[in-house]
Amino acid sequence: MLLQIHEPNQSPEPHAKPKGIAVGIDLGTTHSLIAIHENGAVRVITDAQGRRLHPSAVSYHDGKATVGHEAFNTTEQVIITSAKRLMGRGTTAIDSVAVSADILRHLKVLAETDLKQPVSRAVITVPAYFDDAARSATKHAAEQAGFEVLRLLNEPTAAALAYGLDNNTEGFYAIYDLGGGTFDISLLRFERGVFQVIATGGDTTLGGDDLDAAIAASFLAHVHYTETLTQKDHQRLLQAARLVKENLSTQPSADMTLYLPPRDCSHRFMREDVEKLCLPFIERTLTHLKNVLQQAGVASVDGIVLVGGSTRMPLVRQKVQEFFDKAPLVNLNPDEVVAIGAALQADALTNGSDTLLLDVTPLSLGLETMGGLVEKIIYRNSPIPLAKAQEFTTYQDGQTAMSIHVLQGEREEARHCRSLAKFELHDIPPLPAGAARILVTFTVDADGLLTVSAKEQTTGKSQRVEVKPTFGIAMEEMAQMLYESLEHGQEDMRERLLIEARVEGQRVLEALRSALYKDSSLLENSEYSLIIEQETALKTAIVGTSRDAIHNAMEALEEACAPFVERRVNTAIQAALAGRKIDDPDLEKMISKALG
Ligand code: ADP
Ligand code: MG
Repeated sequence: MLLQIHEPNQSPEPHAKPKGIAVGIDLGTTHSLIAIHENGAVRVITDAQGRRLHPSAVSYHDGKATVGHEAFNTTEQVIITSAKRLMGRGTTAIDSVAVSADILRHLKVLAETDLKQPVSRAVITVPAYFDDAARSATKHAAEQAGFEVLRLLNEPTAAALAYGLDNNTEGFYAIYDLGGGTFDISLLRFERGVFQVIATGGDTTLGGDDLDAAIAASFLAHVHYTETLTQKDHQRLLQAARLVKENLSTQPSADMTLYLPPRDCSHRFMREDVEKLCLPFIERTLTHLKNVLQQAGVASVDGIVLVGGSTRMPLVRQKVQEFFDKAPLVNLNPDEVVAIGAALQADALTNGSDTLLLDVTPLSLGLETMGGLVEKIIYRNSPIPLAKAQEFTTYQDGQTAMSIHVLQGEREEARHCRSLAKFELHDIPPLPAGAARILVTFTVDADGLLTVSAKEQTTGKSQRVEVKPTFGIAMEEMAQMLYESLEHGQEDMRERLLIEARVEGQRVLEALRSALYKDSSLLENSEYSLIIEQETALKTAIVGTSRDAIHNAMEALEEACAPFVERRVNTAIQAALAGRKIDDPDLEKMISKALG
């Protein structure tokens, strides 16, 4: 099988890499795995105790790291877990790159011990929505650990590869990944040998940990325990709850017994009861599922892949099956599929490939326009690389500079989006409002990096900025932005329409002022005062919050201005016929309309 996958931060390489050993690594939030393709099959590498999953946990003593299962066996008070959540986030108390590097170093040693040879080349998986900063942080961590990163591969794509979906018929595939602390849903399209991640969504604060917490709370209620727990006891409680949850995936009931000072507490959990506790969380995943499918405009899928330890729960499988009316693929271990896919990819990369994978922009990109509104240029989930251009114009007569504010996010107002860059385009020829033509182009390359350029069309004057966020957007923050946009969708739309009405009203007022300045002599006193009266009414409506009131006031003002406009047009036509220049674009339009 020839296979080539093209992902962010990676350009397709014309030359095959020298052959050698290469591993696949799933650098997970809760667990990490390392796997190798050998003798035509993938094998998950185990530690000396035969364990396949290694906790993504590190404890430090005198600067020395203890990683994985052992991290929990040290006497250190602080055990760092979930460092992945901080990747690419910039300055925080925890150096997530260094922690991830320690985890990767640990995996490297496991592989080298197992394979009895140096291991230095790897394919490492990342969530589909990791942005550029999070991806390069991951790459840095791998390099610190002594790996050469052959490719950063999206987790859902790795899962698809593990199931050999690239050998399948063309179609849509949903990858449902419920791990320890996160839920990710990705929609892939496989077409003409090309894999495309067409939509991603999920919840970075939803996973097996929530189920553990719910079971733990239920346990305390059942045993009538009301004391305050120490941090260590709370940790033990959660671990016991997790064990109950995991046992209930294969057993109808599970006993939980735990010493909580000052007594032993115990309760028997039935599967149905725990399923009732878990249902609301699973239903939340289905809501995300529905949103992603809706957003992508996809009604049904050709296959569903379950990923993540939490999808071992029978209730999860049942609900997903009901949702799609189709059985998900489950014959591989859900907590291993990502590592398996990475190992397949590592092997394929040493042999060449013919599948091209496209990626998508995780959030919309746009510009701030009048009134603090956002004009989206590139929509969320657009396949990259791509370039899109849009024409903008000036707002005021004689305007010679334009401020370009680049934003990321789904909301309608700039203040609710993330500011990526600001720059100014100068030396726009002084023209009447609305006459200048400025072409703004957004280009997102295959690495997910954005370049914005603005070009004034008549002079050819241009400006460009490369937008490289120095602080990556954390996945929580990114998810937050998405949720808020969904939550506030209607309210935002109302607000947007109101702001648009205000901007339009303001434009009318300014046009009127400039017309009165030039031609008020064409008006009778009574006409003049009527116009001023309506002008005042419009000004009042603009500061109010009713869009209808603004529209009504604009109509009334236009009506009051009708004779004025007619006289201005006539005068202008006469002037034009007499060979004089007309420098009012509004009038020009009216004249050409009047002349048919
Ligand atoms: P991550 O990708 O976040 O590192 P994993 O895919 O390893 O996470 O999933 C870890 C989660 O899966 C934990 O919450 C764990 O309790 C849960 N899990 C593992 N096995 C089972 C099981 N048999 N039944 C239910 N949940 C399970
Ligand atoms: Mg995972």
